[in-house]
Order: sequence, then structure tokens, then C-alpha cells
Amino acid sequence: MARPQPSRSTTTQDLEREPCPCGGLAFDDCCARYLMRGDIPPTAEALMRSRYTAFVRHDAPYLLDTWAVRTRPATLDFDDAPQWLGLQIKAHLQRDDHHAEVEFVARYKIGGRAHRLHERSRFERTDDGRWRYIDGDLFD
Ligand SMILES: [Zn+2]
Repeated sequence: MARPQPSRSTTTQDLEREPCPCGGLAFDDCCARYLMRGDIPPTAEALMRSRYTAFVRHDAPYLLDTWAVRTRPATLDFDDAPQWLGLQIKAHLQRDDHHAEVEFVARYKIGGRAHRLHERSRFERTDDGRWRYIDGDLFD
């Protein structure tokens, strides 16, 4: 019988060194800047990545805060949330200083089956300098 190992609790620091759900760097060097430290994503793509990570982490306040007021849902719950498997950015189109589109594929699993969400999302930057999600068109 092996010597019992002391159980090692997961610290916040361990969590922050884990790879970011969006597929970027370590979480602490990637979307944690926006989700946990209040930095403002400089581009629509950075915002898109941080929103994907917020979906993975069920961070409703962040998602609502980065949603355009006119298309924002009143509340968000994660009761039937899928298991997100990964994000791939396909294209980032900067239309002008205040408008951009990001095409992405997000893979997820629901009820044991894997699916792909292929969407082109529209974003706008308001006068406060913050990008927000407006809406998107689905492919397929
Ligand atoms: Zn990230």
C-alpha cells in the first residue's frame, strides 16, 4: 500500500496558472485581466475571448456588462449550460473605430454529444472606449 499523500487543495494561484479556456495563455495572463481585474479588452477579439471564458466560468455579471444595452437579456442563468470544449477565432474584421465583427467556432458538449457553434458576432465600441457584444449570425 502506498504511503498516503497529504491532499493538496487547489489554491487560487493554481487556478490562475491553468490554461485560459479561450485557448490563450495562462488564465492569469489572459482573460483574468478582464474578468477579475477590471482591465478593458482593447479589441473586439479580446472581448470575444473574454466572453467565451466568462461563459465557461458562468460569470453572468461580466457577460451582462459586456452586452450592448439594447440587446442585453434581463438575466442570464446557466441551468442548461453546455460543457464548453474550446474556442477558435476564424476572423476579426475591424469595420471602423466603433464597429467590428469576429467569426469564431466554439465547440461544446450537451447530453454527451459534441456540437459546434459557428457564429459571426457584431461588436460596437461606445464612447467610454469599451467594446460590447451586439448580436451574431449563425453559419450552417
Ligand atoms: Zn483567455
